[in-house]
Amino acid sequence: QSIMMSFHQKFIVLNNGNKIPAIAIIGTGTRWFKNVETDATFSNSLVEQIMYALELPGIVHIDAAEIYRTYPEVGKALSLTKKPRDEIFLTDKYSTQIKVSDSPAAGLEVSLKKMGTDYVDLYLLHSPFVSKEANGFTLEEAWKDMEQLYKAGKAKNIGVSNFAVKDLEKILKIAEVKPQVNQIEFSPFLQNQTPGIYKFCQDNNILLEAYSPLAPLQKKTAQDDSKPFFEYVKELSEKYFKSEAQIILRWVSKRGVLPVTTSSKPQRISDAQNLFSFDLTDEEVDEITELGLAHEPLRLYWNEVYDKY
Ligand code: NDP
Repeated sequence: QSIMMSFHQKFIVLNNGNKIPAIAIIGTGTRWFKNVETDATFSNSLVEQIMYALELPGIVHIDAAEIYRTYPEVGKALSLTKKPRDEIFLTDKYSTQIKVSDSPAAGLEVSLKKMGTDYVDLYLLHSPFVSKEANGFTLEEAWKDMEQLYKAGKAKNIGVSNFAVKDLEKILKIAEVKPQVNQIEFSPFLQNQTPGIYKFCQDNNILLEAYSPLAPLQKKTAQDDSKPFFEYVKELSEKYFKSEAQIILRWVSKRGVLPVTTSSKPQRISDAQNLFSFDLTDEEVDEITELGLAHEPLRLYWNEVYDKY
């Protein structure tokens, strides 16, 4: 009961009226990513972490993708859990830059089989880097395929990832179903993955999701302790009796962005699911925003491509 008492689940309403849990607590990429999917690479520790997450109260949001090669582990956890399917929010992504399957529809058919489920809650195009030459279809054609999966109920919501304003504009021109989500890298040290993307998504009612929200902590060194950003996060962590990671994740959510995080440590997974048990004031949110912007920018992914954007 004490767990239930301290647990405050929060949802965000998407532009199609559907609800999404306001944090994804177990991303199966980054530290779980692998190049091949074989018995030898099967990760029992990932299954354990997903199972741990699925035992937490509330609807649990898992972030998966074709390119992570972790469907066997996600499938195993889904087959073992007692949590009903409608209390699991499952995101999947179609691999664009590296070809794994022929089309979003073909990719989803395989992933549903591997994960042992009939639908995903959210299906994303992993990046805008799609071309007729490399993929056999254009970005617009890929989106039409996504819309068919949405209409068929195999993907309850559809969206994109790593899209810049110009990529979204291409989709919006032809879309019958507008993307519900754009999942991008977002942290205090990278508040616009590409120029103007934060405002564009807010203005167009496309929910931003933040991957690598904890990049500042991931890359923190001992010399960073005395920098104003880290001193302030530490101060808030002591004020609220929350971890520094929770302070940053809460800041992400106060900016109207859905954090996508992960951890190999159970405590950090439950801290994430328990994120809405405290709040930051508007002044504290603004101060983190400012100190983050004043710090040297940090981008963990897609450096080469975005240099050209
Ligand atoms: P985070 O920024 O949340 O980082 C999580 C990592 O930070 C974990 O490895 C964790 O390590 C570590 N961490 C947690 N707390 C602390 C702390 N206090 N100090 C130092 N390190 C800490 O997210 P990720 O970069 O891992 O990305 C999350 C998910 O987002 C991925 O798994 C994937 O699903 C998705 N993603 C999507 C991309 C896309 O292109 N769409 C690209 C990249 C990621 P520990 O295990 O030790 O707790």
